[in-house]
Formats: sequence, C-alpha cells, structure tokens
Amino acid sequence: MPGCRHHRQRPMILVFIRHKNPAKLLALPLYAVHLIRRLDRAALVALAFIAMLVALLTQTAIHVLAPNTRVLIGKVIVVDPGHGGIDPGAHDREGTTEKEIVLDIARRLFGLLGKAKGIPIQTRHGDWSLDELYPHESTRHRQDLAARVHIANRINADAMVCIHVNKSPHASARGPVTFYNQASQDSRRLASCIQRRLSELQPRGAGGIVKGDFYILRNSKVPTVIAEVGFISNPEEKKLLLTPSYRQDIAEAILAGLADFFEGQGVSPAITN
Ligand SMILES: [Zn+2]
Repeated sequence: MPGCRHHRQRPMILVFIRHKNPAKLLALPLYAVHLIRRLDRAALVALAFIAMLVALLTQTAIHVLAPNTRVLIGKVIVVDPGHGGIDPGAHDREGTTEKEIVLDIARRLFGLLGKAKGIPIQTRHGDWSLDELYPHESTRHRQDLAARVHIANRINADAMVCIHVNKSPHASARGPVTFYNQASQDSRRLASCIQRRLSELQPRGAGGIVKGDFYILRNSKVPTVIAEVGFISNPEEKKLLLTPSYRQDIAEAILAGLADFFEGQGVSPAITN
C-alpha cells in the first residue's frame, strides 16, 4: 500500500537530514538500491533511457557549443574555397554551383577565425580562379591548384582547409567526407577533428576520413585537408547547403574542428579507405 511505503521510507531520510553526519552517507547507496528493487522493469528501462538521453544531450551540447577557440589565437589558417571563375565545380541544372556555396562558407569561416583572433588567409574572395598566380604548371587546372598550395607553403601556415561540395550519380549519397594526405599524421589528425565536428551536423550518411591522392594534399607542406561538406546531388542536403544558417553551422563545425586539432585532439573515426 502507498501509505505503508511512505511510512517505511521516512525514517531513513529523516535520520540522514537530522544528523548531517558524513557516516550516514553510507545509507544513501543502500537506500537507492532499496528504491530500485521496488521499481518495476518498465520504470527501470524508462529511467535508464532518460539518463542516457541526458548524458548524450549534455555531451553534445558541450561539444558543439564550447570549442576551445583560445588555441586559435595567432594561428595562420589558409581557408581555401575550391574552384571559381570558369570552373563552377559540382553543379546542376537549377544553377546550383559548388564554387558559390563554398565561397560563402569560406567567408563565414574567415569571419569566425578573425573573431577567434586567428590569422585567416583566404585564397579567393570572389568568383575567380587562381591559375594566373602560378603559371609554372602545365594546365590551367593545375596552375589553379598550385597557386593555392603555394600560398600555404610560402607563409608556412599552421593549417589549410580546402572547402568543397560533393556530387554523386546516386541521389541517396549524403553527408560530409574529409580527405587527408596519408604521408602526414597531422593532415590525418586534422581531418579526423574536422570530420567529427561536421558529422555532428549530418550524423546520417556521414562518411569518415579518407586518404586522398589529390594535387593539393600531395604538394602541401602544412597540415592540409579537403573537406567535402555535403552532396548537392542529394535533394535534402542540397536544400540545407542553400540555407545561410546551415552554411554558418558548417563554418562553425570547421572552426571547432580546427580548435580541437590545435588543442591536440584527434581520435580518428572509421577510415573508409
Ligand atoms: Zn570541388
């Protein structure tokens, strides 16, 4: 009966409160066990679920909202929005272009890095390519890539983040993927930090970090990654990528990943290649 239970519980609580004796703390675990034994199975499952939810939400909130941006003070970061000018990058019939999306994300990241007292260097600030800056390579495309790497190497940047958008013939493909240079432990660690933060935005379909045999990764002498932040070929993700607030989220995720990297983090997620 409820009355009896209430009557039986009261003495133990009262004893604890009245005496305020540390030794009485020992009574608490016993009391908890006593309570748990009286709960039925459904109530226990519900309690465990709520505890798990609280733990997950707390962890995510702390992780997402509180990157240690102090570690970015004075860090020279090359922010490289891919493509530009005659090269639209991934595009579709509706006129969506990779070069426009990544430039906007880069501008946002540039602003965030500035606020964090970092020293961001952006490879392009408008709709143009960089091939004229480095005419020593054989093709226009290579000249464009070489110019970007040259900037990072010449200033000996602390890190370089190339921002790209993906496209696939399979509309179901979605989520971020971050490429790293397999010859560089720092590149791999930076990729894992950024990918982990990006994956928090798109847990469904997020890829891991992937070894990339790309010109920029091969030739960069500083920790460099290529972040493919999402697929414009996936209708849902395309909608997000066209939304200013989501672009801001991506910029903040990359900023948080950079902060994690300079803080020394870098637990590698699953490597898909
Ligand atoms: Zn691209």
